[in-house]
Amino acid sequence: MTPGPLVPPTGGGERLRVGVLASQGGFAAHVKLLSELGADAIEVRTPSEIAELDALVIPGGESTTIAKAIERDGLAGPIRAHHAAGKPILGTCAGMILCGREHLALIDATVRRNAFGRQLASFEADLKIDGIGPEPLRAVFIRAPWVEEHGDGVEVLSEVEGHPVVVRDGSVLACAFHPELTDDPRLHALLMAMATGGGAYVAPSQETGGP
Ligand code: GLN
Repeated sequence: MTPGPLVPPTGGGERLRVGVLASQGGFAAHVKLLSELGADAIEVRTPSEIAELDALVIPGGESTTIAKAIERDGLAGPIRAHHAAGKPILGTCAGMILCGREHLALIDATVRRNAFGRQLASFEADLKIDGIGPEPLRAVFIRAPWVEEHGDGVEVLSEVEGHPVVVRDGSVLACAFHPELTDDPRLHALLMAMATGGGAYVAPSQETGGP
């Protein structure tokens, strides 16, 4: 018998259900990348869609527009409930801004919009990011934010010129760039690992000792 093509599992419940907030911005490329990783990746716009997720991506776009849509559609409560249930979230670019203290406050950090200024409005960089292996990740920054200030519980996974551009606060991962615009799926893979209890967060104070 000739082996057939690799067929992904079918049927409900067998794949991780990962939602991409699709109010505005660059959600389609996230859905494509997550599907390629074997997730049941869907666009989400309503409270009930958010309630059924294992993991959520808040994509890039225009943070003020996305914030208004979250308000208009009553999504802040469902997103906070998802977070309170320990389910992971990946916020990218505008999504990082929305995770910050001034919006959904899912990370204990103040995020500065358009932080790189006009001259550096858009650029690419090879970033070493803790937790995804030593190979640098090509990062596309578009009018990107950075983390201006953060609490002790926030892990800085990568920086550009001393400014945190990838951070993790418990079950929330946030990056200032657009990981969906390159072929490197490692941050999305980390999100999926977090949803299954892998890639567990280890607070710096808990790293030593214990079994
Ligand atoms: N500059 C945008 C904002 O402040 C974010 C840009 C992006 O998501 N690429 O909302």
